[in-house]
Amino acid sequence: MIDLHTHTDQSDGTATPAALVAAAKALPLEALAITDHDTLAGYDIAAPRAAEAGLELICGIELSTRLEPKPEDRIPGKRAPSVHLLGYFIDAPSPGFREWIVGSQRSRHQRNLTLIARLNSLGVDITLDEVKVIGRNLTGRPHFARILLQKGYVKSNQEAFDKYLADDAEAGVERDEPTLFEAVKRVSEGGGLPVLAHPVRLLGGRDRAKLAVLLEELIAVGLRGIEVFHSEHTPEDSETFASLAHQFDLAVTGGSDYHGGNKPGIELGTGKGNLHLPYSVLEAIRENAAVAR
Ligand code: AMP
Ligand code: ZN
Ligand code: FE
Ligand code: FE
Repeated sequence: MIDLHTHTDQSDGTATPAALVAAAKALPLEALAITDHDTLAGYDIAAPRAAEAGLELICGIELSTRLEPKPEDRIPGKRAPSVHLLGYFIDAPSPGFREWIVGSQRSRHQRNLTLIARLNSLGVDITLDEVKVIGRNLTGRPHFARILLQKGYVKSNQEAFDKYLADDAEAGVERDEPTLFEAVKRVSEGGGLPVLAHPVRLLGGRDRAKLAVLLEELIAVGLRGIEVFHSEHTPEDSETFASLAHQFDLAVTGGSDYHGGNKPGIELGTGKGNLHLPYSVLEAIRENAAVAR
């Protein structure tokens, strides 16, 4: 079994990179990809541990991007939807890629400062320092949600987003994020394999025709894969995405999106019980990636 979509505490997971490697080894997983949000730090820390443990570790990243909707799909006053892009095999990226992700980290920090100011102006007693105790070098909104919950401002993670943190919520902040197209180009030029993450979250979820049009446009700028298997996908979703992968000759990837205690109910390797990806999935990705386009 393999898992190609996981987060450590270097982004918004709860397991340290070393603990994640140990958990993967214990399961056992035959291969693990770390795909932290907008950072390679978790992979960098885990790599020597995985080598020691004899675990095949794949360098990945999950980039936060925005997809500018088509004019007919635009809703006035609504932000372009957030889309996640996975990048694989990016352990030795071309010069410039690491600097580029540092830009994303900076814009996140700026967003966090504005978010604190807005929460304070709404009467919420919260400081960036206390959020950073749990979020550390990649403090994100899930960390804000935990503090709001701890302090009793909300009763659930979802309420924290609905009331305060979501794009269209009271304290919501527009952060500078790269477009999906730019991110695909950056990963591709950086030497990585760009893969569309959990497509079920895209374009209202289950519109195969629209997704096909988008895939064609993304493939033109370098998209090479689609996440067919994911904890949030039903068997029917996976079937649809597998058929799109086949149609466009895209690599088929999958993973749990493990976040430890930050997403209870999602287990390493098996997700919500619906995953069990054989090693052959990784072999097929490598074969697909080896073909020059
Ligand atoms: P950030 O990268 O700091 O902007 O946080 C993004 C993360 O917040 C996403 O990966 C989700 O886990 C979570 N998130 C964003 N919007 C919502 C929402 N409306 N409801 C629940 N969780 C959300
Ligand atoms: Zn996450
Ligand atoms: Fe994601
Ligand atoms: Fe993820």
